[in-house]
Amino acid sequence: MSRFRKGAGSTEQHPPGRAVAPASQGTAPCSLLRSLERLLLPAECLLCRGLLPSAHADRLVCDVCRHRWRAVRPPWCPRCSQPEPLFGRCRLCASWPGALVRVRSAVWLDDAARTAVHALKYDGLPRLADELAAVTARLVPGPESPAVLVPIPLGPRRLRARGYNQSERLAAALARRWHRPLDATLLARTRDTASQTALTPAARVANVAGAFRAGPLTPGHGPGVNPPAPRLVLVDDVLTTGATLAEAARALEQGGARVIEAVTFGRAIIPDFS
Ligand SMILES: [Zn+2]
Ligand SMILES: [Zn+2]
Repeated sequence: MSRFRKGAGSTEQHPPGRAVAPASQGTAPCSLLRSLERLLLPAECLLCRGLLPSAHADRLVCDVCRHRWRAVRPPWCPRCSQPEPLFGRCRLCASWPGALVRVRSAVWLDDAARTAVHALKYDGLPRLADELAAVTARLVPGPESPAVLVPIPLGPRRLRARGYNQSERLAAALARRWHRPLDATLLARTRDTASQTALTPAARVANVAGAFRAGPLTPGHGPGVNPPAPRLVLVDDVLTTGATLAEAARALEQGGARVIEAVTFGRAIIPDFS
């Protein structure tokens, strides 16, 4: 038996594995339980179920699995970092709003990375955000200062069901590592949207059209101000076609933002766009 088993005190389904407290419930009994588990049971890697060395018992993912994640590397489109097209201009970012100047992703979303994102999103493992942020911060240079990190918000229905926003967790962990502030109030969802997973690229654009609203930007975000406006850095767990990031950036641009970047942990492999 290992620590990987259904989470004590949680109503969400976890992958087989160690008990994980719900995001907002770091209560003393849970901490006590976790400490007891640490003493009594060895920890397993969330992805491969291999035993973690005791020095890394607090981790969720072992070094072997981390090294399986394939970094997204150049040559790429300098704007969206999709692999360079064989001919012509990059189609992925051609219709993005002008303010969205740079998008980077840490790793390709193959099976190993997809399992981690799935656990972060659907299995109530928000603590995994810190591990994904560590990899992201190692592979993606932090934004130039001044910059403010802005997580992609969830719709209210999904937020209620999940109990936390995985992109906000990732953004908070990145903000700590990059020493940049986070503002989760700058962007809101105007409505719940269907999952993008099974949609075609065109349907993805339609699905998120008008789905975001920019909150009040501080005067520093406007044009011609001094000191310069901070760049806004959107944070999401995964980029597929970029439709969600582009629509969020469009809302921020309409709200007065002039320079927007984005970073995601994973990037789906879509041959049509390479
Ligand atoms: Zn592993
Ligand atoms: Zn591009």
